[in-house]
Amino acid sequence: MLHKIEEGLDLLAKNWRIEPIIRDFVLGKRNDASDHQMKVKDVIFHIPYLTMENGYVLWKCYWPDCHNCCNRQGRLPLTSDDLITISKNLKYRKVSDFVNTETNITTWDEKGPSGNSVIMTMINLKRTETETEAEDGTYIRCRFLDEKGYCGLHPSRPGVCYLYPFSSWLENEKGKPRVHATYQFTGDCPGFYFAESIDEMMDILIQYSKIIYDYTMSSNRTTRENFGSLSMGF
Ligand code: SF4
Ligand code: SF4
Repeated sequence: MLHKIEEGLDLLAKNWRIEPIIRDFVLGKRNDASDHQMKVKDVIFHIPYLTMENGYVLWKCYWPDCHNCCNRQGRLPLTSDDLITISKNLKYRKVSDFVNTETNITTWDEKGPSGNSVIMTMINLKRTETETEAEDGTYIRCRFLDEKGYCGLHPSRPGVCYLYPFSSWLENEKGKPRVHATYQFTGDCPGFYFAESIDEMMDILIQYSKIIYDYTMSSNRTTRENFGSLSMGF
């Protein structure tokens, strides 16, 4: 995995300035990173804090100058809400026809919030019309990305596209579900930067707290409705 991230960062560096602090952090070469937690509306964000630098890893999006996350997509898992909105957008009369034609069902292993292994099975939107299950997890340019960097499915693009570059999970807090979020570092996003104050990212955190909360709840409903599943390994 680390070599894929390094490969991604090397490709990024051809067009974008990646701060050395950020590169080292993403590649796990810093030992001063701690987890700064802050609650913004209904989400607890985990923002990396670098103690020796006395500052944070922050993020902003460079779209439309950048659309790297659509150029190098690993997979597009769909929530049950996505199945309805995207099938309508693509003019399918029945969701089952959309699922049969436009998606693959795949299973993969990803790291959970505490480093544990989580086996995910989800319905994924095909990134090319001919994508096979064997291509899951490989980097493919998404077929809905147009030449100007716009998404042909917008605004009904998959929830996971809105979520990037965050990832989220639910924890039980005194019997109630609490949404947590952190960044996913795939090596494909030039938007990460170092800053001494988190204040400059507050508007983004407020905006994303709703996106992340809605996506996480929708994703949770998807597994409850048996359109996907996850199992924990330890
Ligand atoms: S999220 Fe990152 S990779 Fe995607 S468009 Fe924004 S800056 Fe580019
Ligand atoms: S569906 Fe749209 S937003 Fe998502 S990867 Fe494809 S082009 Fe990008």
